[in-house]
Amino acid sequence: MQKYKLGIIGGMSWESTQLYYQYLNQLIKDRLGGLHSAELLLYSFDFARIAALQASGDWDKATHEMVNAGKALKKAGADKLMIATNTMHKMADDVQQATNMPLIHIADATADAIRRTNCQNPFLLATNFTMTQDFYKGRLADKHGIKVTVPDEGDRTIIHDIIYHELCQGMINQPSKQSYLDIIAQYQASHAIDGVIFGCTEIGLLISQDDISLPCFDTSKIHCEYAISHLFD
Ligand code: GLU
Repeated sequence: MQKYKLGIIGGMSWESTQLYYQYLNQLIKDRLGGLHSAELLLYSFDFARIAALQASGDWDKATHEMVNAGKALKKAGADKLMIATNTMHKMADDVQQATNMPLIHIADATADAIRRTNCQNPFLLATNFTMTQDFYKGRLADKHGIKVTVPDEGDRTIIHDIIYHELCQGMINQPSKQSYLDIIAQYQASHAIDGVIFGCTEIGLLISQDDISLPCFDTSKIHCEYAISHLFD
C-alpha cells in the first residue's frame, strides 16, 4: 500500500501528463502486482492560459495559479506534491511554502539518476526558461554539485520552439527529431558532453535512449521513478 497520496499539478502539457499517469501506474503495478494502481490526485491546467503567462513574463500570476492548484490538491487529500513539468518548478518553493507540503522536486530526481552513472558533463535540453534561468540548473549545481552544459542561443531557440509549437501540441516530426540529434552530436564533438538531460517532460516523445549513444536522463520517467521510491518510506 502507498503510504502517501500523490497530488500532481499537470496539464503542462497534457501530452506529458499522460506519460506521468502511465508511468506512475505501471511503477506501482510493478511494485505491488495484481490489480494495484497509483493513488493520486491530478490538477490539470488549460496550458494555453499558463503558456500565455509564461510568454508574457507574468510569473506572479503563474505562481498564484500554481499555489492555488497546490492548495486544491491538499484540500482534496494529497500528502505529497509533484509538478509534472520542469519549467513550472520555477515556483516550486512558493508552492511548497504556501501549501506546507513535501514536494518531490524534479531536479533532485534528475540528480539522483545522474549520480548513478559516470556522467560528469550533462547537456541540458529544455525550454528556454529552464535552460537560462536558475531554478533547475542552479539547484543541480548548488544542492547536488552537478554542472550542466547549456546550448547557445540559436540552438536554444530551435529546442524551445519545437517544444511549444510541436511536442506540447502532440506533433512528432522527423525533421525536428533530426535537429535535436544534430545539436546533441555537435555538442558531443565541441563540448565533450557525456550525457543528455531531457529537461522538458515532452522531449521523451521525440527522442529516446535508443537514438543516442550517451546516457540519457528523461525527466518525466526519472521524476516518476523517484516519486514512487518516496511514497513508501
Ligand atoms: N513540460 C515542459 C517542461 O517540462 C514545458 C511546458 C511548460 O512550460 O511547463 O518544462
